[in-house]
Amino acid sequence: MKRRETIIVMLVVSIATIFVSGLQAEAKSKMQKQSFGKTEDGQPVSLYILTNKNGVEAAITNYGGTVVSLIVPDRNGKREDVVLGYDNLDGYATGKAYIGATVGRYANRIAQATFTLDGTTYTLAKNDGDNHLHGGFNKRVWTAKDVSSSAGQALELTYLSKGGEEGFPGNLPVKVVYTLTDENELRIDYTATTDKDTVLNLTNHAYFNLAGQGNGDILQQQIMIRADRFTPIDATSIPTGELRSVKGTPFDFTKMTAIGARIDQDDQQLKLGRGYDHNFVLNGDTMRALFLAAQGYDPHSGRLLEVLTTEPGIQLYTGNFLDGIHGKDGKVYNRRYAFCFETQHFPDSPNHPNFPTTELKPGQHFQSTTVYKFSTK
Ligand code: BGC
Repeated sequence: MKRRETIIVMLVVSIATIFVSGLQAEAKSKMQKQSFGKTEDGQPVSLYILTNKNGVEAAITNYGGTVVSLIVPDRNGKREDVVLGYDNLDGYATGKAYIGATVGRYANRIAQATFTLDGTTYTLAKNDGDNHLHGGFNKRVWTAKDVSSSAGQALELTYLSKGGEEGFPGNLPVKVVYTLTDENELRIDYTATTDKDTVLNLTNHAYFNLAGQGNGDILQQQIMIRADRFTPIDATSIPTGELRSVKGTPFDFTKMTAIGARIDQDDQQLKLGRGYDHNFVLNGDTMRALFLAAQGYDPHSGRLLEVLTTEPGIQLYTGNFLDGIHGKDGKVYNRRYAFCFETQHFPDSPNHPNFPTTELKPGQHFQSTTVYKFSTK
């Protein structure tokens, strides 16, 4: 080929490449938006559908920053929704199980709904016996923005939690970004700041059933948690403060084990939680980069879930209190029909100085990332 022809060919190829990548970028940014109804006080709420090139689909509503569905293939390519949820806004507005929600200001429990910070004692709403549990971020309407990029379709949700809300100090602007990547990851980035010393613990409360939502219990599904220790609880599910070794106990998930293999053993901790409802102390540093914390596997469908997080702990909750909830597509969710991997700081940290701190001060930037990655094997 002559030099001039070569240059022309190269030019055509580069223009075509730019055109194709432009098309891809456009495809990535086309997040679907649908109405998801109106709250009781008339605020419109939407459902955002994020998709990737493999046909994985995550539906998220700005009501509570909630993951409504997550559709992933099995080893034969059969797509199924692997998280519990409700068909409509009313289910989320009246539901008490935090299904799929963004949980805050303080995920998990605070004993006696009180803590002391800088010499001031704060009193929180008692919503779990005498304790405070999870807070109310899941019942708020968040402001949504499409922030899709070459990383994947992405939804930014923001909410201003005002000082005094549920008794917590400090105005707290909080941001949650959900990104669905082409590696079949749903990545969740949390950021927040405050104008007054406060405490904060954020998580997502997806209820997974890797065999498909509503398709029976999860006792045959296997999990692995990279934790040599867990935080034992008292009769009201508050950590005693001990970091106990999992060795020789039903809490040893350092190797893939069926969730149901030991769940009904005669073990005091399992009895207190009515199954697993415990925080695990992830191995390694507390200030870490993304760390493979846990895996879930359904041998039947071949679906594998990997959970990566920057958080120091993870709550394993095996749906012990699900009691016939009417969920999506006419499915009924009974006891142990799902498991939760709630990445977090430890429960009741404000009352346990030996736990990694959950304090946030003015000028500091709270940052936390969790990734749910799906594959098959
Ligand atoms: C708690 C459970 C609770 C569930 C729903 C979990 O994080 O540990 O005890 O029933 O959330 O609120």
